[in-house]
Order: sequence, then C-alpha cells, then structure tokens
Amino acid sequence: MPNSYDPNNIFARILRGELPCKKVYEDAHVLAFEDIRPLMPVHALVIPKGAYLDMSDFSARASADEIVALTRAVGEVARLTGVAASGYRVIVNNGADGHQEVSHLHLHVLGGRPIGRMVGAPKQ
Ligand code: AMP
Repeated sequence: MPNSYDPNNIFARILRGELPCKKVYEDAHVLAFEDIRPLMPVHALVIPKGAYLDMSDFSARASADEIVALTRAVGEVARLTGVAASGYRVIVNNGADGHQEVSHLHLHVLGGRPIGRMVGAPKQ
C-alpha cells in the first residue's frame, strides 16, 4: 500500500464511474457498495467521496460535514442491508499492520450471521 494517495486506486476509479459497483447508498459525501469478494452474507464498503488515504488521513483532514456523513452512512447502510436489528461489525483496516489493501479509506460493514469474536490471534 502506498503511503500517499494514489488517484488511480480502485475506489477512486469507481467514484469516477470508470469501474462498476453494486451501489447500496450514496449522498453528497459518501458512496457505499457491495464488496466484490464478500466475507459475510452482508459485506458492504462505505467510502468518502473525497480523496483520503486512510482513517488517519480522514480524521486529520476531513470536514465536519464529511465526518458526519460517513458516520450516518454506516447506520443507513446497516438499515438498507437489513442488519441494523440483528447486528453487524464495522472494520477499518488502516495501513500496513492493519492489512489495508486499497489506498482509499473504506469502512467494511459485515453481518447477516453471527461473526464471532473480534479478532483471531495474530500470526507470529
Ligand atoms: P482492505 O483489505 O480493507 O483494503 O479491503 C479491500 C476490500 O476491497 C476487499 O474486501 C476487496 O474484496 C474489496 N474490493 C477490491 N476491489 C473491489 C471492487 N472493484 N469492488 C468492490 N470491492 C472491491
């Protein structure tokens, strides 16, 4: 993963309409779509439309409106995908140790069955 924003990352290309996605939700600041390799019955990605590398970048530079919109979008996506009542998990992989693969901030919304404990033991 690069440590600066790559404007040709996959999610930037989806935002520009160069690549397709299965849209779940959209507003002025946020796009949410289905993960292409779902790990759960519900697996959506919620991304800001602005060019933010990761959560560290977003938390430092995003406007209050963008931060509010991203937070509200997670709740909206949970409702739209039918997991708001049954429960879900939000994961943000950040940077190398966080195993972030795509260099545009994205929140995973996972649910649709019991997920189990929060994390497994790390490989040594
Ligand atoms: P992360 O490891 O947190 O960076 O997760 C990246 C996620 O992006 C993975 O779950 C991939 O399956 C997902 N992904 C990669 N390319 C696409 C795409 N074109 N459309 C939807 N999801 C994608």
